[in-house]
Amino acid sequence: MHKNKKLLIAANWKMTPATVSEARKKAFLFREIAKRYMRAPKAKASLQVLVCPPFPFISELKAAFKGSPALVGAQDVSEFDGGSKTGEVASTMLQSLGVSHVVVGHSERRAAGDTDERVSIKLGQIIRTNTHAILCIGEDKRDEEGEYLNAIKAQLKASLARLSNTDFSRVVIAYEPVWAIGRTDNVALSGHDLHQMVIYIRKMLRDLYNDSIATSMKILYGGSVTPENAEDIIWNGEVDGLLIGRAGFDPKTYEEICRIIALPTHANVIMRQATIKKMTTIKNNKKNPKKEKSKEKTVRSMKRVKKSSKPKHR
Ligand code: PEP
Repeated sequence: MHKNKKLLIAANWKMTPATVSEARKKAFLFREIAKRYMRAPKAKASLQVLVCPPFPFISELKAAFKGSPALVGAQDVSEFDGGSKTGEVASTMLQSLGVSHVVVGHSERRAAGDTDERVSIKLGQIIRTNTHAILCIGEDKRDEEGEYLNAIKAQLKASLARLSNTDFSRVVIAYEPVWAIGRTDNVALSGHDLHQMVIYIRKMLRDLYNDSIATSMKILYGGSVTPENAEDIIWNGEVDGLLIGRAGFDPKTYEEICRIIALPTHANVIMRQATIKKMTTIKNNKKNPKKEKSKEKTVRSMKRVKKSSKPKHR
């Protein structure tokens, strides 16, 4: 368990809100959340609030967060240094605005054309300008043969290819299984499955680099995080924080996630484990209808026994 650990809770605002005045209003609420959970009394973890708004709102958020522990990040960066590149934003520009973290390799950017090669160049730009990178990795889908693990390893290796060992302290990995992003059916990874993945990512880093990089690298989880699953994801998943999409658009929902993580009750964890157990049993029984039938038979005969052993009322 990450007792007293500092967790990074990053909100990716994507292409929201629609106006700068809305962004300003939200920013003031995030600023209060950052102060409240930086070192909340009785909290199991202190939370570092990070908001990654669209580029045009970065300065507004920087001004709103002044004097508070809340950080401002960016959602992407150009692979180029500057010059005749219409529409691009260079890492030096973000650095000059005081951006602390830049998300790179988000699946929505990869879907728009970012390859591992481009991600590795962007990562190099971020490091060069002394900014932290949040490198997103994750499989599109899972297969029973475990091929997706090789795909993640390849993604990790290619994205980190241009870094030297000293650069790694500026990189945070966000494990975001693409199939779990943007879901409306409350499908995120369970804490247990996420923990397996975290172990695997650390093993990959050990194989590719060294023990110190593998153990010190911060790993976040992203993909349909909600107040219902956040406690399980953080405390059973053993991650160092979250990259939150839609649930971070609304400061109230974001704060609910922060409260649940910092002051866990473990009720959610127990509830979720019970649901998983029930679902696994249903799944297994579906696979083995004979077992299900014999269970039904047993239940029926138990009911009969119970009935016949009841004292008869006069
Ligand atoms: C994301 O876009 O990084 C993300 C995790 O989105 P959501 O939380 O909405 O699934």
